[in-house]
Amino acid sequence: MSVLVTGGSGFLGRRLKLQQPDWTYISSRDCDLTQSPQVEQLFGDIKPSAIVHLAARVGGIKENIENQAAFYYENTMMNTNVLQSAYKSGIKRVLSSLSTCAYPDNIEDYPFKENDFFAGSPAETNFAYGISKRGLQVQSCAYREQYGVNYSTFSPSNLYGPADHFGKENSHFVAALVHKVATADGGDDIVLWGSGLPLRQQLYVDDLCEIIPLLLSEHNTNTPLIVAPSQNLSILQMARTLTEQIEKKVTISFNGKMDGQYRKDGDNTEFLKLVGGYTFTPFKEGVKKTYDWYLQNGDLNDT
Ligand code: NAP
Repeated sequence: MSVLVTGGSGFLGRRLKLQQPDWTYISSRDCDLTQSPQVEQLFGDIKPSAIVHLAARVGGIKENIENQAAFYYENTMMNTNVLQSAYKSGIKRVLSSLSTCAYPDNIEDYPFKENDFFAGSPAETNFAYGISKRGLQVQSCAYREQYGVNYSTFSPSNLYGPADHFGKENSHFVAALVHKVATADGGDDIVLWGSGLPLRQQLYVDDLCEIIPLLLSEHNTNTPLIVAPSQNLSILQMARTLTEQIEKKVTISFNGKMDGQYRKDGDNTEFLKLVGGYTFTPFKEGVKKTYDWYLQNGDLNDT
C-alpha cells in the first residue's frame, strides 16, 4: 500500500517517519492544503492508495483563544480539501486525526465514550479547533455513507515525547515542563501555568506512531476512536514524576492562571478491543525518555 501522510513536518509526522520511512510525507511547503487546486494536483501526481491525514493548525490555550478565526478557517479548509480531493482522485482509504479536545467540555460520567462525541460543546478554550475537528468527523462519516469509502477517524489525547515543540509560548504542557526543568539551575523555583489540579491523559508520541498503522488496517467504522492511555494524572503529579526521575533538585510552583478543562479523559475500551490490547508507555518512563532526548537534541523547531 502506498501511503501519503499530511502534516509530515509536524511533531507527530516527524516521529511517524522514523517508524514508517517508506511512506510519503508532505508539509505546507509541498502543498498548502487550504488551497483545493494544489491538493487535487498533489493527490493526482502522487496517487497514493491511502492517506493518513495529520495536518492541522494546532496550538495551546492562548494561541487557540487569540486565533479562533484562523484555527477554524485553516482546519476546516484543510480537512474539506483533503477528503474531497481524495474522493475525487479515487482514494478509498483516509485515516484522519481528530483530538479528544473535540469531545464535550462537560460530561456527566467520565471517562467519556465515543458516543458522547456530539453530546455537548467542546471547551471554550479550543471551541473553533474542536468544531473544525467535528466537521472532519461529519465529513468522514458522510463520505463513508454516500460513497462507500473507508474514511475513518481517531481521537488522540494530549501527545508528548521527543521532538515536541519545546520552549515555545504555545508548547504543550509536558514539553514546557521538560524545557523549564532542563534549563533551570539546580535549586531554582520553577513556575508553571495554572493550578496544577487538572487531569490529563498523556499519550507518548511513539506509541501513537506504532498505533497508526494498526488503525490504518483495522479501523473501518464511523467511530471517532479514542486513543488514550488509562493513566489520568494531575499536572502536579506529572511535574513531580519528572523531578523524581532526574538528578536535578528544583521546586515547582503554579501561577494559578489559565487552567483549561479540569478533566477530559476518554475511555479506551473500543480502541483496545479493535487492536486486541496495547500496552501504553507509562508516563514515568515516557517523560524520562523525553527529558533525556531534549538534553541531547534541544528544540528541533529552532533549527
Ligand atoms: P504540529 O506539530 O503543529 O504539525 C502540524 C502539521 O500540519 C505540520 O506538518 C504543518 O506543516 C502542517 N500544516 C499546517 N498547516 C498546513 C497547511 N495549510 N497546508 C499543509 N500542511 C499544513 O501538529 P502535531 O502536534 O504533529 O499534530 C498532528 C495531528 O495530531 C493534528 O491533526 C492534531 O490535531 C492531532 N493531535 C495532536 C495532539 C497534540 O498534543 N500534539 C493531540 C491530539 C491530536 P508545516 O510544518 O509546513 O507548517
